[in-house]
Amino acid sequence: MIKLIIFDLDNTLFDTYEQLGMHVLDQMIEKMKSAGLTDEQEKVLREKYVTTGFRTVANMLKLSDELKAIGKSTYENMDLSKITPFDDVKLIKRFSQKKILVTSGTERVQNEKIRILGIAPLFDEIIVDLEGSGNSRMKIFMKLTGAYEVRPKEVLVIGDNAEAEIIAGNNLGMITVQIFRRHFLKGKADYYVKDLHEVKKILDEMS
Ligand SMILES: [Mg+2]
Repeated sequence: MIKLIIFDLDNTLFDTYEQLGMHVLDQMIEKMKSAGLTDEQEKVLREKYVTTGFRTVANMLKLSDELKAIGKSTYENMDLSKITPFDDVKLIKRFSQKKILVTSGTERVQNEKIRILGIAPLFDEIIVDLEGSGNSRMKIFMKLTGAYEVRPKEVLVIGDNAEAEIIAGNNLGMITVQIFRRHFLKGKADYYVKDLHEVKKILDEMS
């Protein structure tokens, strides 16, 4: 029986790709190109940004401190005011389990997204993973099992990122659900869903 559900935020509870991602990426690239970003780096950034976030790609590409600073300030100053949650997020109220939101990125930006989306009351706890790797996710998930006194098999992890929350959940023996709000890289998960209605069905069948 599932006792605890861990939710990802970006591209899971709201359409980061459509509502923020593409727009801020274009702005970043425009500014970074005039500071020396190469075409090859631009290509990788465009491929990876949406799933991994800026910091991870910037490190992967070994971007200069100047380029990183430009990307970071563009990101931190993006207009968040118009973001809205996916319709099915209201279903979360009906999930009887403990619910934790674990999201990665800049603390201020993630907290601001959560505030504007108005979703904080849906969760028992909200954690911003500042490091944002599969490893840091694993540490957070492990701590949660201790804090809520649940076994890994009693935890369901829902997210879009095969290389972060899904891997972390799999490694710990949790039940993983990869959500495809759009066409993202498919990883190895216990379940694949399009939306939270399908998650509700899985939970109903398991209980
Ligand atoms: Mg995500």
